[in-house]
Amino acid sequence: MNFKRNLFVITSALVGALALSGCDFGISKFSHYEYIYEAEDKHEDIEKEGYVKYGNYDSYKVKDNKGDEMSLGSAYETFRDYGMNSNIPSTGDQKIIVVPVSFSDYKVDKLNITEQQYIDRINKAFFGNSKNNEYVSVGEYFNKSSYGKLRLDGKICDKIYEFPLSVSDIKEKKLHRDALATDYYKKVIDWYKQTYPEDDISKYEIPGLKTGKNIAIYMVYTYPSEEKTEEDTENFFWAYTFSDVPLSWSSYSFSVPEYDEPDAHTYIHETGHLLGLNDYYPTLAPKNKDTVVIEPTSFIDMMDASVGDETGFSKMYLDWTRPYYVTDNCEIQIKPFTESGDLILLSNNWNKTVFDEYYLLEFYTPTYLNAHDVSFGNNLAKLPKIPGIKVYHVDARLAFITSSGKVPIEYCKDGTFGTTSSNVGYAHDNNTYDNPNKFQKNYLYQLILNNPPKEQSVCATDANLFRVGDEIPALKFNQGDEFLYQITINSLQFSGSSIKFEKIKKHAK
Ligand SMILES: [Zn+2]
Repeated sequence: MNFKRNLFVITSALVGALALSGCDFGISKFSHYEYIYEAEDKHEDIEKEGYVKYGNYDSYKVKDNKGDEMSLGSAYETFRDYGMNSNIPSTGDQKIIVVPVSFSDYKVDKLNITEQQYIDRINKAFFGNSKNNEYVSVGEYFNKSSYGKLRLDGKICDKIYEFPLSVSDIKEKKLHRDALATDYYKKVIDWYKQTYPEDDISKYEIPGLKTGKNIAIYMVYTYPSEEKTEEDTENFFWAYTFSDVPLSWSSYSFSVPEYDEPDAHTYIHETGHLLGLNDYYPTLAPKNKDTVVIEPTSFIDMMDASVGDETGFSKMYLDWTRPYYVTDNCEIQIKPFTESGDLILLSNNWNKTVFDEYYLLEFYTPTYLNAHDVSFGNNLAKLPKIPGIKVYHVDARLAFITSSGKVPIEYCKDGTFGTTSSNVGYAHDNNTYDNPNKFQKNYLYQLILNNPPKEQSVCATDANLFRVGDEIPALKFNQGDEFLYQITINSLQFSGSSIKFEKIKKHAK
């Protein structure tokens, strides 16, 4: 279960905006975004003096109960076949069905727009060009973020699906959000088949997923989103994406902009989940209310506070980029990450998969998919204004997990497949409070801050990135060792940055 975080002020502002009538928004005419295609990627190993960029990630390997090596496949296959996930593949041409939803007691006219305007605006938010959007559409975002590797398209239904229960029924019954996945996912697919009998739905089926869990559906509903509260932390009228069926559910109100055109940030965040990305903010409140909540990625991430481009670990998981891996003394030039995918991976012994512990260096610039959220952002987060190096600690080691609650039991490297479990998942997440003790202290993905505040619980700023002259602290691994190289940022301009790695000489005792 994945969802977006509360954006307190924004949402109440949106409810206000909905009350306006006759507001002349959505003035541009729909125009589909134009695909960019990836520059040729030969997937060859590139070996340089002191570093290497592998052409492909390795297949993730575990031991079977005979002690033999067993391959679980790519990151996508590992979570699909052994992690109980039903996600959209992250490369190539992929399709989703977007369903505009209303309720018998909350029809489109409550939004002060016509049904046609409702559908048009959803169409713009998902597949329009940048003129149709305050930011970019879902499709354009993922096409650009993937450097042309993913072309996401699909169908916006031109008929409105009336949800089988009214808003008051849902509230009266206290319908649990999981019912969307268990009951209503199937119902909406049946509705689609009846409504569009001439349309062959099989063209939307995702290969390799089980029948009944293999069509990606995004439902956008009329009723305004409601804040989660302490009494109701699982409000039905929020934005959710399920991991066991490819289904997202979000209010139209999330896209109602301050200006003329729709704002797709929330739909982009949720579509990130449909592709298999996790939330990077702590999604659960700590049991003890006095606990200071640590924000591991300090808000500035699409999978945290829904701002800017996807970041290094996400793009590695999605197979949109492969890092430079430091193997000896060297100096590496990297271009802006959002424009190039350049990334440096630091480990003393990398297993060549996404599922390992390592550090990442990414050259952040306030450009391309980041530009909008430098000045706009939202009430939780704005992106830094000045280019700088982001340092991330990733601990994406896999564990055997329980099949019911996906709770980690034992690191995969310590166990054997099928003995403790035949299911795998991340050992850590950014939500440490409820993890079993052994896994509790480590984060999946943490931004290491320059000039760190006392508690990492506020939005990262310009001061938290690293630039020429800044000292990058010793990089310690959760597994006990320390990165063997001293890191020096030699130069940093808008166009690129040069970073030097020198082996730390151990002093003789
Ligand atoms: Zn989320």
